[in-house]
Amino acid sequence: MKYVYFFGAGKAEGSGEMKEVLGGKGAGLAEMTRIGLPVPAGFTISAECCDYYLKHHRKYPKALAQEVNKNLSRLEKVTKKKLGAAENPLLVSVRSGSARSMPGMMETILNLGLNARSVEALARSTNNDRFAWDAYRRFVQMYSTVVIGLPKEELEERLRAMKLRRRVKDDTQVPAEGWRELVGEYKKFFKQKTSKDFPEDPEEQLWGAIGAVFESWNAEKAVTYRRVERITGLLGTAVNVMQMVFGNTGENSGTGVCFTRDPSTGGKTFYGDFLLNAQGEDVVAGIRTPMHLDEMSKRMPKIYRQLERARNLLETHYRDMQDMEFTVEDGTLYMLQTRTGKRTPAATFRMAVDMAKEGLITKEEAVTRIKAEDIERLFYPVIDPQVAREELAKRKLATGINAVPGAAAGKAVFTAEEAEAMARNGDKVILVRRETSPEDVGGMYVAQGIVTATGGKTSHAAVVARGWGKCCVVGCEDLDIDYPSKSVSVNGRVIRQGDWITLDGNEGLVYEGQVKLSVPELPEAFSTLMAWTDKIRKIGVRTNADTPHDARKAREMGAEGIGLCRTEHMFFKDFEQPEKSIERQLAIQEMIVADSVDARRKALEKLLPFQRRDFLGIFKVMDGYPVTIRLIDPPLHEFVPHDRDQQEELARKIGVDVEVIARRVEQLKEANPMLGHRGCRLAITYPEILEMQVRAIIEAAIEAKKAGIKVLPEIMHPLVFARKELQILADATRRVADQVMKESGEKIGYLIGTMIELPRAALVAGEIAEVAEFFSFGTNDLTQTTMGLSRDDAGRFLPDYVDEKKAGILPEDPFQSLDIAGVGQLIRWGIERGRATRPDLKVGICGEHGGDSASVKFCHQVGMNYVSASPFRVPVARLAAAQAVVEENASRKAKKRKGTSH
Ligand code: PEP
Ligand code: MG
Repeated sequence: MKYVYFFGAGKAEGSGEMKEVLGGKGAGLAEMTRIGLPVPAGFTISAECCDYYLKHHRKYPKALAQEVNKNLSRLEKVTKKKLGAAENPLLVSVRSGSARSMPGMMETILNLGLNARSVEALARSTNNDRFAWDAYRRFVQMYSTVVIGLPKEELEERLRAMKLRRRVKDDTQVPAEGWRELVGEYKKFFKQKTSKDFPEDPEEQLWGAIGAVFESWNAEKAVTYRRVERITGLLGTAVNVMQMVFGNTGENSGTGVCFTRDPSTGGKTFYGDFLLNAQGEDVVAGIRTPMHLDEMSKRMPKIYRQLERARNLLETHYRDMQDMEFTVEDGTLYMLQTRTGKRTPAATFRMAVDMAKEGLITKEEAVTRIKAEDIERLFYPVIDPQVAREELAKRKLATGINAVPGAAAGKAVFTAEEAEAMARNGDKVILVRRETSPEDVGGMYVAQGIVTATGGKTSHAAVVARGWGKCCVVGCEDLDIDYPSKSVSVNGRVIRQGDWITLDGNEGLVYEGQVKLSVPELPEAFSTLMAWTDKIRKIGVRTNADTPHDARKAREMGAEGIGLCRTEHMFFKDFEQPEKSIERQLAIQEMIVADSVDARRKALEKLLPFQRRDFLGIFKVMDGYPVTIRLIDPPLHEFVPHDRDQQEELARKIGVDVEVIARRVEQLKEANPMLGHRGCRLAITYPEILEMQVRAIIEAAIEAKKAGIKVLPEIMHPLVFARKELQILADATRRVADQVMKESGEKIGYLIGTMIELPRAALVAGEIAEVAEFFSFGTNDLTQTTMGLSRDDAGRFLPDYVDEKKAGILPEDPFQSLDIAGVGQLIRWGIERGRATRPDLKVGICGEHGGDSASVKFCHQVGMNYVSASPFRVPVARLAAAQAVVEENASRKAKKRKGTSH
């Protein structure tokens, strides 16, 4: 097996396609070299090697030493320099890089190859003593902390003391002598701690660094990041060993990060930050505030033009927005990294639509560029436009850089750890830091928003927060943060931990207190892209909605009908006329406690007009679209009061003895209500409930029809498990519907169907389809009953089942994302059997899974006619349905290609 891949002098053994093996960075370097961009030479040790190393008790594969030596010689030949040489020495960087970007989570060592001899040579060849010794102290510091694990603070303490002795404030003011002195101290400290001398042999240094990068794959912060980002299935990190170039050799040098398009807005502008006379991580660390690219273009026009060329080449080559790192060494540009850039959700939409319109990608590809989270994050809040300007002016604390848009309010907290603790207690928090580092990701993740006192738009805080679409303000230099007292003072005002603050990530502002937020309007590109998804997808998208209000929202979101209207949700609240809510409640409770059919019918008569009005409202909103109405489902005890006071009140209101109510409530008690007297079983026992509901549906449909509305009612019976059960219900349904139509002289077309939400229903679906005209898979109950997991209680232990670090039995919570291996089989079986009986059987899903991406794709694959999702998840379902088609086409094409190549 080959473990090392060389790149340099216009040629590369690897390529951009080899991300899994070379990591994103290594693949990018190989590809940039191939397409003729200026990349320092080097080699990549593969992620397969990391996998081997971690699995074989920290041993390298046998062939590795030889391969590394060979490639090192090749590097020395290409660069005409030698590692550790007394004349013209080669220095290398050793960097991590896995197949998925994990910004700042793993280790990097710069300036490797320096020792007592080569540092002098570097000073001579650059004619810059100060630079050479600064480079050496950086190396000794990085090596000591990263490779050996010595405490960073103690080294930094020595740096501070040296600066104090020399009475200098900034690192840039430290003379060569100062750095030389510091190197001496660092080495002394190294000896004290390890009982060994600091390694002089560059090869020993190199192997130490390679091992440290591999080890960093399993560092706690890296493991946490992968867990939070759900990154699984990777081999490990690759190691990139590359010739060092220096951005800190003077005013004709510098280092920067740039994006081929604006990562905040998605606009087609070249966007980036540049630091003059700075090295490597200074920009990302956000310690100094950088200059914008347009300012750089004035200072270094030639370099800027070269960079523009790289921008165009790379974006056209990768056909996506790239995030690039570069260094300018004495007027020469070097590209150090390119990767697909993280972006805000709004920018994701804009870029996908713009790129498709420019012809860079197809519409199908544009659709695959969007993730479900991007849609969800579009609905993130902003400062409510109604909040008075004067109020905002009064509350304004500080101005910073608007790194990630959106707005967030929460309690100020100053450490990531405490942020996590407060969030666990249910607090909304804003993480306030001077700067963030990878250790802080846990706290950043739980925070509503993040604000830092330093840094630019490409600082760690900005990059990480952007990936999550989380509101973030950086470079807020007025914030004087005092960690020990857990407070921040800004122009005389003091905010302590726990005090509310609000961030405006669009404007880069920090406000005192809790400012009202509201949900923004969707960007233009959103509707364009969603229209594309509608053209591509084959499966319909309906919504689960119980009120005209929700139905209207769902229509705005693109729903093509209602897949589930839970009628019992109407029993407790009158959404259109709230003052009538009590009347409804009493009617339903009276119906439940009734001790005779007559008494029950009387109560049901009171309910009828309410239900009719509800259905009419929904039919009006869904003019021309199907509406599936499910008859009463939950166990009746859910509707009656359980404590004595409330029972007495109900008795008074409906004029019955309290003992009658108490007895009835007692009667309704079940040990296992979810498996008890619920669903269609209620209508089998109390057909009068069914009669009232069907009457309300058909009467409302007739009224709507008379008003010129196109109504397509679908009457659905829940929790059916046998053909005969449904037959009884269907007969009763038809009887009432015919009667109502006869009374009015109007005809209404309607369907009768059932939910498939019990394993037995799926198993005998062939028989049930003799009666049912449609199936709707109720995957909430189907998951509950197939897996024997209570949907109400399993949350207590399911996290352990899903957590890879604990039991890791399930890949996902099965109530969120369909258990395709188990529940999915029942669905396949049910559809197959159902359609064998009734080929035109309409099939949909109305469990929560109808709004989950992976589950929607499954529904497409098994040939459902539609999915039904809650209103806000309708766009997610539309997107996933379209992606399912694109993915299917791609895999068909790939199969065909494979077939012809044999
Ligand atoms: C289901 O069980 O999947 C379903 C949609 O019904 P409910 O959630 O109301 O039980
Ligand atoms: Mg159900």
